[in-house]
Amino acid sequence: MTTIRLTNTKTRRKEAFTPIDPANVRLYVCGPTVYDRAHLGNGRPVVVFDVLFRLLRHVYGPDHVTYVRNFTDVDDKINAAAQARKAAGDPRSLEELIRARTDETIRWYHEDMDALGALRPTHEPRATEWIGAMIAMIEDLVAKGHAYEREGHVLFRVRSYRDYGALSGRSVDDMIAGARVEVAPFKEDPMDFVLWKPSDDELPGWESPWGRGRPGWHIECSAMSYELLGASFDIHAGGIDLQFPHHENEIAQSCCAHPEGGFANVWMHNEMLLVNGKKMSKSLGNFFTVRDLLDQGWPGEVIRMVYLGTHYGKPMDWTAEKAEQARRTLEDWYRALIQAGYNSDTLAVLRDGGRWVPSAKVVDAIANDLNTAGAIAALHELSKAGSAMALAEFAASLDFLGLVHDWDDLQSLAQMGVSSVGSAEHAKVVAHWMLLRDEAKSVRNYAEADRIRDMLSAAGVRIIDRKSQPSTFEIEASFDPAALADLPPLDPANWEDLL
Ligand code: AMP
Ligand code: ZN
Repeated sequence: MTTIRLTNTKTRRKEAFTPIDPANVRLYVCGPTVYDRAHLGNGRPVVVFDVLFRLLRHVYGPDHVTYVRNFTDVDDKINAAAQARKAAGDPRSLEELIRARTDETIRWYHEDMDALGALRPTHEPRATEWIGAMIAMIEDLVAKGHAYEREGHVLFRVRSYRDYGALSGRSVDDMIAGARVEVAPFKEDPMDFVLWKPSDDELPGWESPWGRGRPGWHIECSAMSYELLGASFDIHAGGIDLQFPHHENEIAQSCCAHPEGGFANVWMHNEMLLVNGKKMSKSLGNFFTVRDLLDQGWPGEVIRMVYLGTHYGKPMDWTAEKAEQARRTLEDWYRALIQAGYNSDTLAVLRDGGRWVPSAKVVDAIANDLNTAGAIAALHELSKAGSAMALAEFAASLDFLGLVHDWDDLQSLAQMGVSSVGSAEHAKVVAHWMLLRDEAKSVRNYAEADRIRDMLSAAGVRIIDRKSQPSTFEIEASFDPAALADLPPLDPANWEDLL
């Protein structure tokens, strides 16, 4: 079995990964606050941990991995947006406005992250649907002496948890000095953080033992991960900006409420996407959204490829040069697949025949602490290999990395220069025949290879044979679509004989 090695923020070391239960490997990633479109920085953890999810599924089996990513749909920024709408005369109630906004943002998030080739997590809990679990956890923390109520607020008593700060490797006093902790008269200690806060009639709220109120942000992840993954699970991940205070607070809450479990065994943090050296963020205003890029015509695959070009542990930026480079590489790769006739039918044949297996080089690179740049280097090599078998490995590797979203739409991505003469549909048909011809050649059935060449040539398609690489073709001015239509239809069953 592939050994997975991951850099664990908790130990600051790259460690061999051993799941608690290989039959149910459990991953939690902090999700977005849903009040606006995701910016390009927000997309980074989604793609990085999608690669991890795909790796875990590959190694342990798709049915043996549980991936939870939450939606924070209760938050002061969401409330403020809804209140602004109401003040502007929207007749709906605050609850309706909040629900409409968060529903819409979740829909956008799905559209945009789907476009980046990210698989949907197993569970995407919305915080507002787990308030009962949060209240129960807070009650438990109060009962155990780790939390206290003051003026309708419930606060976590940070000094009651000895290991506070272990994840970021700082002492409580250092953290107080370095952080903008909110000093409030009702806090025993400035480090104490809010688990529950009161809501007036103008704000969303839920009944609780401490009056009508709403949860703090940190308790959401502790409560939902406990409910969906248990008191101990394998990997907890998110951006490095969440390490302190969010993740320290999650650990304190979860370990104090459930001392029998260890919370997450491995902590992983992606570095930030930067703009001119500064973290891209809503608050700095230096952001553009994933949707902006998609609307400018950058395919999701290209955006994903740019992310994969940099290791998740390093800061990165987005530049037009990187995007152009990624686009050119992908176009070359898609073209090779089109020439070889790849689409969802051929893929199904390969899969049924047990030939849909990514290259060990690509999998090993990813298993080595998600070395995505190494995986891309391996793909470059594979793309140059001549045999049909190597090409199948190459195709399966692209699929494994999430770089082909729609196997029936390679044509539009590769923008082959055939559209002036033949249509994309014709090129697809030709590409099928080309693949069969390459396969025939690979089993030394030259009579069949020649027959296909002659048929294509009669239809005005010139074949260019290349040394130890799949052949390419050009559609000539004499191209006769009718002749192409007369060619006997392609039967995917033939594939099996040829392979
Ligand atoms: P937020 O909605 O701000 O809580 O962020 C959602 C996710 O995006 C978190 O995992 C953050 O760590 C991550 N994130 C926010 N800004 C960036 C950035 N500039 N680069 C990389 N990740 C980011
Ligand atoms: Zn979280």
